[in-house]
Amino acid sequence: MHPSSSERPVILTGDRTTGPLHLGHYVGSLRNRVALQSTHQQFLLLADAQALTDNAHDPAKVSRNIVEIATDYLAVGIDSDLTTICLQSHLPALADLTLLYMNFVSVARLERNPTIKDEIQSRGFGRDIPAGFLCYPVAQAADITAFKATIVPVGDDQVPLIEQTNEIVRRINRQTGKGVLKEARALISTVGRLPGVDGKAKMSKSQGNTIPLSATADQIRDAVRRMFTDPQHVRAADPGRIEGNVVFTYLDAFDADRDAVADLKARYVRGGLGDSAVKKRLEDVLQDVIAPIRARRTALAREPDHVLAAVRRGTERAQSVTAATLRELRAALGLLSL
Ligand code: ATP
Ligand code: MG
Repeated sequence: MHPSSSERPVILTGDRTTGPLHLGHYVGSLRNRVALQSTHQQFLLLADAQALTDNAHDPAKVSRNIVEIATDYLAVGIDSDLTTICLQSHLPALADLTLLYMNFVSVARLERNPTIKDEIQSRGFGRDIPAGFLCYPVAQAADITAFKATIVPVGDDQVPLIEQTNEIVRRINRQTGKGVLKEARALISTVGRLPGVDGKAKMSKSQGNTIPLSATADQIRDAVRRMFTDPQHVRAADPGRIEGNVVFTYLDAFDADRDAVADLKARYVRGGLGDSAVKKRLEDVLQDVIAPIRARRTALAREPDHVLAAVRRGTERAQSVTAATLRELRAALGLLSL
């Protein structure tokens, strides 16, 4: 059944079009999205407008990655008949809602947002923060509420942004006395935050520490070889540490054979298991995760028009859904319509 005709709960998530999707997206969000698309009305937003808030110097990158990410969606199993894939910059109601919501949130509140604080630091903005960047949580509130989404499957970095959204929702609903807007809750996957291959921060397109879903077999092998382990674990015979050891973090996230991972951990801690053996296992696991995605990507790359057509169709649908919410909210606020 097409989602438009159902009363299923609404999901909205999306991705900034700043680079191809990576394994962090896969465990943090994509797996959930594929599982939920047949039981929910799901909208996926290609967040090109949000991507511009810290990439205004490189709009070509933001544009190029629209088809790239839409291809990733289809390659991991998103079905464009079940899920509406839409392009943020082509949904004018989102910009209108953002402008309205800006009046319901203070600059001080935006500056206190822990995710924004982290991101400002990791992007090295110093005091030169683009106004659009500081305000992107407001735009994200517009995104979520425009679709009347109640569930947002995301990584744990997004939790403060959903809290911010709900504050705006409560404020506006209280003022209008009408429940036009809906509060949403984050659906965090079992792996809320996959670290980058450098073991430092979250795997993130902007940090160059990713394994993309489009990685070749060689790229996967190289990335695993370079992966951070336990610096004290020099010889195989030495006891090693699991905590902070990225290779084990990845095995926990991707290896379905829990018993085998538990066994490897025990042997590693005891001493007698070398890094290269653990890395070999991880490499095999990751090759198995990515190989079918890569094969579907290759097939999709032969028909880019098919991918674009899915985005066009989804965007048209999303235009009418978001415009309806804007009309409803303007009426609830008592704003004049000519
Ligand atoms: P950028 O560096 O441009 O911000 P990103 O890699 O952080 O890119 P986003 O487009 O910001 O990716 O995130 C899209 C979704 O994927 C969000 O729900 C986010 O929480 C989730 N996500 C991103 N990286 C990870 C990760 N390393 N682990 C778990 N979830 C993640
Ligand atoms: Mg991000």
